Amino acid sequence: MSITPLMPVYPRCGVRPVRGEHCHLIDESGARYLDFASGIAVNLLGHSHEGLIGAIQRQAATLMHVSNLYGSPQGEALAARLVGLTFADTVFFGNSGAEAVECAIKTARAYHQHPEGDSTRTEIITFTNAFHGRTMATISASNQEKMHKGFAPLLQGFRYCEFDDLAQAKALVGPQTAGFLVEPIQGEGGVRPASQEFLSGLRQLADEHGLMLIFDEVQCGMARTGKLFAYEHYGVEPDIMAVAKGIGGGFPLGACLATERAARGMGLGSHGSTYGGNPLAMAAGMAVLDAVANDDFLAEVTAKGERLRAQLEQFIGNYPELFDRVRGKGLMLGLRMKEDSRAFFQHLRDNHQLLTVAAGDQTVRIFPPLVAGEAEFEEFFDKLSAGAASYQSAAA
Ligand SMILES: *Cc1c(COP(=O)(O)O)cnc(C)c1O
Repeated sequence: MSITPLMPVYPRCGVRPVRGEHCHLIDESGARYLDFASGIAVNLLGHSHEGLIGAIQRQAATLMHVSNLYGSPQGEALAARLVGLTFADTVFFGNSGAEAVECAIKTARAYHQHPEGDSTRTEIITFTNAFHGRTMATISASNQEKMHKGFAPLLQGFRYCEFDDLAQAKALVGPQTAGFLVEPIQGEGGVRPASQEFLSGLRQLADEHGLMLIFDEVQCGMARTGKLFAYEHYGVEPDIMAVAKGIGGGFPLGACLATERAARGMGLGSHGSTYGGNPLAMAAGMAVLDAVANDDFLAEVTAKGERLRAQLEQFIGNYPELFDRVRGKGLMLGLRMKEDSRAFFQHLRDNHQLLTVAAGDQTVRIFPPLVAGEAEFEEFFDKLSAGAASYQSAAA
């Protein structure tokens, strides 16, 4: 037998973390890494946040799981808090980003298949280089062929449009269109913010034609950009929104938020999840909101993001042949390179103990824990500068 016990679907690297301390990961061999990947925008409070650990420990000892057949004081409390903080009137809890997007897709279709709806509207327009997860529906929603290979047939009902191309989106709208599914800031696609014109235009198209506007804020949401959700930067509200990653701070949790109107098709028995919204996950979600959902914390993220960005802009000026530009918002930053970003990201990891994440469009994602401070940003620039210098001299 040559297959590994862990199904070999990930190209895992040699870093094997066994412990986390604030913004650092310590691996099996004792090596210490600065973690500016944050589990890909998950560990927004770092790795040993007392509030989050305490909440999970207390809830684990009190009540870990009950069925959704019973009333949920814990779920009601977290849902009410999210409703108070967003455009939404109602929340469904699941355990991951893909599940949150699945629920969003079902909610949009069910809206139109409601007795007062138009059941011919089943098709969702999605955008190039999007990432929505790895389930059948969420890979079908993405145009990325590398995720489709081997899994035919895909699900029907998705139409791909060029990201940030409002004219094409408008041209694709027809009597079959149910809505749009879009990341306000693409994550995997390379930290690419949608333009104001594009998101405002999609909102307007949705209003004109009675369509659902779905935002996938699984990566860009939860305070990473300096607002609780990225849509707030644009002043454009969705009808439905998928959230996950940072919302549990490392505990598996996802949520689909919707307005009352958008959720009209999601009645009794229409959807469910065994673990979704269990008391342990709710305690984690509440602890994360306690930490991030306040103006002081968000203002700090904004200030840190502005400083980091200014320093990055200055830094890339020293390496005009290596780096193209910096993009993103808050502490969701991307360093676009003039070559494929994977070799440089591996170099930083293996030779300078700096963890970042490669993304599409030749970009390195710089996603520090939101609680990173001066000392960590200083360490980051020391490592990044040394990394760029040694990378360039190795190439020369
Ligand atoms: C990560 C991600 C998902 C999928 O989340 P999982 O928890 O891996 O299922 C969906 N959408 C976006 C934008 C993501 O970044």
